[in-house]
Amino acid sequence: MPNNSTLLPIYDFSPSLNTSYLKKILPLLNEHQIAANPINYAIFYDYITEHNPSLTAAVNNLLNQGKPFDSDVSIELYGNYVCNASLESFDQIHTQINKVIRQATDAINETHSKAEQTNDSFQKKSVLLENTSEIADSQTILQEIIQETKALVVTSQSMQTQLNQANLEMEKLRTELNQVRQMAVTDGLTGLLNRRAFDQTLNEVIEQSGDEVTCLSMLDIDHFKGINDEYGHTIGDNVIKFVASLLKKHAEEHHHVARYGGEELAIIMPKTPKQKAIEISENIRIEMEKSRLKRKTDNLTLRQITISIGIAELQSNDDPESFINRADNALYQAKESGRNKVMH
Ligand code: GH3
Ligand code: MG
Ligand code: MG
Repeated sequence: MPNNSTLLPIYDFSPSLNTSYLKKILPLLNEHQIAANPINYAIFYDYITEHNPSLTAAVNNLLNQGKPFDSDVSIELYGNYVCNASLESFDQIHTQINKVIRQATDAINETHSKAEQTNDSFQKKSVLLENTSEIADSQTILQEIIQETKALVVTSQSMQTQLNQANLEMEKLRTELNQVRQMAVTDGLTGLLNRRAFDQTLNEVIEQSGDEVTCLSMLDIDHFKGINDEYGHTIGDNVIKFVASLLKKHAEEHHHVARYGGEELAIIMPKTPKQKAIEISENIRIEMEKSRLKRKTDNLTLRQITISIGIAELQSNDDPESFINRADNALYQAKESGRNKVMH
């Protein structure tokens, strides 16, 4: 059974950002006379953060048309957009898999029982054939055998068709299931692994590391609060997306790039010597330092944005917590010593 809890929406914004959202959500609910219950709050939380374009479009549609925001509407929005419809997708896939299995089993059972009937009938007819001396009787019996054989071929062909169909259907369901699984481990903003997937991957990498060198690089955007304050949260989000793209560009194929928290990103680097981890992190830091991002709306060049990075190498007695703590301490030192630095 899939673990449904891994499909719940993830809220990993900082307390201060959440407070700023709260201050916007309540007046909005008030303005439209929408009950501030947990489900409506969750809907308007996604609406305010603008992280869920389909939900934003659906809510705008409702508000523009002045439709009443009753409990049916809110449950539908919540199910379709907030939960990413994941639970529902799993339910649907589960139901469809059961249906396909039932149909295939029915087809096999039908063919099996038809074959058994035909077998019985052939045995009876072979006794009749042995005991008859009349050519006409023999011919009739043979005709019947031919008819029954043809009927069996038809049943078996129909089973083949149904099994082929079931196979195609299963293939489709497997793809859908993979998409839903993918959604459950992906951060919506950046497309990187989300925090839960980071924790799980780090556990696995530590377990499998053996004698190999494993490094962890933790990155935090410098003075990010200022970026939000100066340019707004949407630009802030785009900056996070840009930094994420740099990580994806510089990390190696076998590395795991994740969004650890709000504007903190991480790269788990199995089978990577520390020197290589430093080189990759430096390249990311330098490219960020040189990049001059522009605001799409008016082409305004944003002020220089830098990142600080801390690196740790896995020790034999490490657990995930101690490993993360060492990388975090190195990151703290990078901040303390002036930011825009890689420390290890
Ligand atoms: P420092 O150089 O010490 O890291 O300074 P900082 O301003 O970046 O400090 P800190 O890391 O504590 O602040 C992070 C801020 O990032 C706080 C929060 O409002 C904002 N933030 C967290 N998640 C998100 C997000 O998803 N989007 C946006 N736009 N802002 C976020
Ligand atoms: Mg931070
Ligand atoms: Mg920061």
